[in-house]
Amino acid sequence: MASQASSAQGTGAPVELDGIDTNEPSIARSYDAVLGGKDNYAIDREVRDQLLTVAPELGALARDNRAFLIRATRFLAATAGIEQFLDCGSGLPTAENTHDAARRVNVDARVVYVDNDAVCAAHGRALLDDQDHVRFVEADLAAPQRLLSDPTVRTTLDLDRPLALYQVGTLHHLPDEDDPAAIMAEYIDALPAGSYVVLSHFFHPGEAEPELSALATRLEATFLHSPMGTGRFRTHDEIAAYLDGLDLLPPGLVYLNDWWPDGPQPTQLDPVRNLMIGAVGIKR
Ligand code: SAM
Repeated sequence: MASQASSAQGTGAPVELDGIDTNEPSIARSYDAVLGGKDNYAIDREVRDQLLTVAPELGALARDNRAFLIRATRFLAATAGIEQFLDCGSGLPTAENTHDAARRVNVDARVVYVDNDAVCAAHGRALLDDQDHVRFVEADLAAPQRLLSDPTVRTTLDLDRPLALYQVGTLHHLPDEDDPAAIMAEYIDALPAGSYVVLSHFFHPGEAEPELSALATRLEATFLHSPMGTGRFRTHDEIAAYLDGLDLLPPGLVYLNDWWPDGPQPTQLDPVRNLMIGAVGIKR
């Protein structure tokens, strides 16, 4: 089904959305629903509601993930001096986006957002139309060579100079058959020295933490059996393999709220907020 304009109250101008099937949930729109956004349809909210039945605090985990992305961006733009960002699986525009955080530090920062979701593409293009050096590319992040040869990527970013590659909340949507480790090895191989990778991923703690593991298993089953059908919770070792060949910045691959924390957590966190881990690595 096609719709003329989205439910995009959150992002300003009406957006043309031809060719969107509103009967099929999308990862991006369901994530937007979990985050409390408005760019989603009933089928996406159905997926969200199934997930919230298992983990009512899932929205806090999604917000933790966004906060991690913004903290990492601030660090990269301000401290590491990174001027170019390739944000793979960037999702729908939300309160603060990568280019907002980077450009607050460096007005000349260049950002390419990539997503394979048609609604993200429509919003991305509308939102970024008047932004110099910030572009949206509709592409599959599981095909690194094709993505890195995209003309818009090539004209916006200089791939011979250090950049930051983001895989924030993306690789858990790739099934094991896609071999995310091989995909990441291709990206990392292509990056010039001095580049950074920012990664976050659903986490399965394994036998060491039985209660948290049981929650991870239940949530994964709900993701995989929902109409959306993706959402793998992987172990620390599996996720660490996606960063092979990089030096991880302290504190390493950790719970999102432990990565460069802005300060001590005021309260005990709901267990579900320990079901994602993240890291920033540098290619020497
Ligand atoms: N990176 C954002 C964040 O962390 O807030 C959004 C994360 S959202 C959970 C995952 C995003 O990855 C969605 O927007 C989805 O459309 C996108 N995605 C999933 N598989 C993809 C693929 N193969 N190629 C491009 N984008 C993909």
